[in-house]
Amino acid sequence: MRIGIFGGTFNPPHRGHRHIAEDFREQMAAIGLPLDKVLIIPTFVPPHKETPDLASGEDRLAMCEMCFRETPEEGDAVFEVSDYEIARADVSYTYMTLEHLHEEWPGAELYFVMGDDMLLYLPKWARPEKILEDAVLVSTIRSHECTVEALKAFAKETYPDQYAAGRFLFFESEPFPVSSTEVRALVKKADRPIAKETLNKLLDPEVLQYILERELYQ
Ligand code: ATP
Repeated sequence: MRIGIFGGTFNPPHRGHRHIAEDFREQMAAIGLPLDKVLIIPTFVPPHKETPDLASGEDRLAMCEMCFRETPEEGDAVFEVSDYEIARADVSYTYMTLEHLHEEWPGAELYFVMGDDMLLYLPKWARPEKILEDAVLVSTIRSHECTVEALKAFAKETYPDQYAAGRFLFFESEPFPVSSTEVRALVKKADRPIAKETLNKLLDPEVLQYILERELYQ
């Protein structure tokens, strides 16, 4: 079994998230490693961590369900939103979540997808070597400010053994440059038609409606 994993704060989930998840699924199939499913795992954020404008875990889970809902084409891996980290209600380092997934699906191959910002931050994560033992890291660019070549060079220099062992995969795709930070700033101006128009392009309509009805990020 081959499981894709996509973790993030998803505060809120936007079309850039959906874009990378779809591309991930497609590109894995294209290189002969089709995924059986893609787990979308919103992270628990501890209350003491200063995170301005953080929606509750419950809201982020609900919005992920909306953002990643689909009728998959036959043969496509399904997107499955997991409440594992939020339900634990404690900090879950990625290496811990990967260990849990290996216990749940013994023998499964895990592929963890991320944007360029996350990959470049890897040395600061808890136990990156353990992460690379338990999962293959799959990364792509979020905008044209970074290149896949730069990501490869970084991985090769920082983790040469794991790089040589094929623990990194990269895919080229047309970026969809948006961030949750930008979305939250736009929501504060959602009464202006231009902001609303941009939000319609950046968010799933159900997610936008959910945000406005619940007055999130105001
Ligand atoms: P924030 O602006 O609040 O920091 P974000 O938009 O970076 O949020 P996260 O939930 O932190 O979103 O990101 C989760 C994962 O999605 C990370 O691996 C990140 O690199 C990736 N990601 C986020 N936005 C994009 C995008 N537009 N294109 C590709 N990957 C993205």
